[in-house]
Amino acid sequence: MAVSITPPKKTLENRETFEKLSPTSGENLGTFPIGTAEDVEAAVARARKAFPRWRDMSLDERFTYLQRARDIIRQEGERYAQIISADTGKPLVDSLMTELMSIPLFIDYYEKEAPKALGRQRLLPQLLFPGKTSYIEHFPRGVVGVISPWNFPFQLAVVPMISALIGGNTVVLKPSEVTPMTGELIRELFEKAGFPPGVVEVVQGDGSTGAALTAADIDMVFFTGSVATGRKVMAAAAEKPIPVELELGGKDPMIVCEDANLERAARAAVWGAFLNCGQMCVSVERLFVVESVYDEFIKLVKEEVGRVRVGCPDEACDMGPLTFKGQIDVVEEHVEDAREKGATIALGGKPMDGPGQFFEPTLVLDVTTEMKIYQEETFGPVLPVIKVADEEEAITLANDHKYGLTGSVWTQDRRKGLELASRMESGQTSVNDLVLSVGNPALPFGGVKSSGFGRYHGHEGLYTFMNQKAIMAAGGRMNVEPFWFPYGPKYPTMLKTFKSLLGGNMIKTMKHFWGLIRMTQKRD
Ligand code: NAD
Repeated sequence: MAVSITPPKKTLENRETFEKLSPTSGENLGTFPIGTAEDVEAAVARARKAFPRWRDMSLDERFTYLQRARDIIRQEGERYAQIISADTGKPLVDSLMTELMSIPLFIDYYEKEAPKALGRQRLLPQLLFPGKTSYIEHFPRGVVGVISPWNFPFQLAVVPMISALIGGNTVVLKPSEVTPMTGELIRELFEKAGFPPGVVEVVQGDGSTGAALTAADIDMVFFTGSVATGRKVMAAAAEKPIPVELELGGKDPMIVCEDANLERAARAAVWGAFLNCGQMCVSVERLFVVESVYDEFIKLVKEEVGRVRVGCPDEACDMGPLTFKGQIDVVEEHVEDAREKGATIALGGKPMDGPGQFFEPTLVLDVTTEMKIYQEETFGPVLPVIKVADEEEAITLANDHKYGLTGSVWTQDRRKGLELASRMESGQTSVNDLVLSVGNPALPFGGVKSSGFGRYHGHEGLYTFMNQKAIMAAGGRMNVEPFWFPYGPKYPTMLKTFKSLLGGNMIKTMKHFWGLIRMTQKRD
């Protein structure tokens, strides 16, 4: 495919570099720099310098820049998709739908919602605070470090970036070294959109560059990646301390009940497991199927897996190669461990011949809880299936796990579906659906347990990047307040106020309250 994107020559000078190899063919796609601590510090200093001007712009003004970014994505979507697909190996459909499409949707959503979410909120008056008005305001944190992974290298970098920018923060991005072409594309997007210098900085590099960013003079770090790296990022943030949001791994359950639409559930399970070659924090990694429909359902799943077209990146294939070469070893190790512990490899199970990092779509049956394929993130095209007696066993097993990112429940009984969804220990749960909830800009996204903490998307996605400030304003006409000195003889009246307030007697409370004010007004 005739697409390429390389960093400007000067960013390569006097830097250690790395080669980007195509996951599809193995050919060299370009040379990229490993940003040093000095590069990171300089980028953070530029972002800090740009901060006051960006912070002081109105929301409308900031949105004019974001609208330009949105227009560029609309106009150049096809070229963008080609670069992302070359970088990751994912089908063009996936680059368009899962990487690019959400950016204009998020910008549109926030254009409507940000004035409401970020505007000053006036609270209802409260009895205990007569004559006072309470407000909640938000102001930006400052320079936000965003560290992103390789599996959705565009979307998982750009959505937190725009969410931070809207509130008036400036951003330094450290994209994944596995997908540096997309990192360069993001730099190009913000430059072309004309963002003022320093408002968005991109420093390419590896883990050492990421570590330098967390050590630099930033005010918050937003991290998406593995649990192991998340721990390091959090430890570095704790040194300062600065707020940290961690978007980590998942081992998402899908529960197929007896009364599910089995064809829909089978097609969803296969899409949810093999989309993006299974390299998704929200992919179906534990499929629980109720015994009574197990045989019929597995027959449908097998047929569906057989239809998955592997190839790419072209316009018609369903599944590409693994983006990160090291992932092949993890997938093989998990499949082998499952086989040794008694699982049935019903379909696939090994890397494919020929160039590129392709792995067969793999269906593993008779999976048990002690297998690696059940306990750890596989992050590859593998669908592990667990037969359960009933939904109760499924929900118990689904929750008895260290991860809790998303999950899904499949039943034609809406009430039961919602009840099971509520009981699932996860940040998001779908009923008769999966994955797509992540793309709904209005729904908060994030994990529980080892899947991380903090939320983005929705209003929460703006608040994550903001400091909250509470303001209480008094009229200032009264010379004293009832709780101020002198305490003098106030205790008995204070006790009566306390009892009437807690007893819910508002008339008595007001009476005692005014008594207190009168006493406070008197000096010895
Ligand atoms: P990773 O942890 O290896 O790397 C993520 C980023 O951290 C990369 O940019 C990397 O260079 C950087 N990094 C490495 N060491 C660092 C350090 N010491 N300090 C700071 N930064 C450092 O993760 P990955 O392999 O790129 O991504 C896959 C993982 O991400 C999976 O576990 C997946 O589940 C998770 N993920 C989670 C979400 C989510 O929203 N919860 C989304 C996508 C991926």
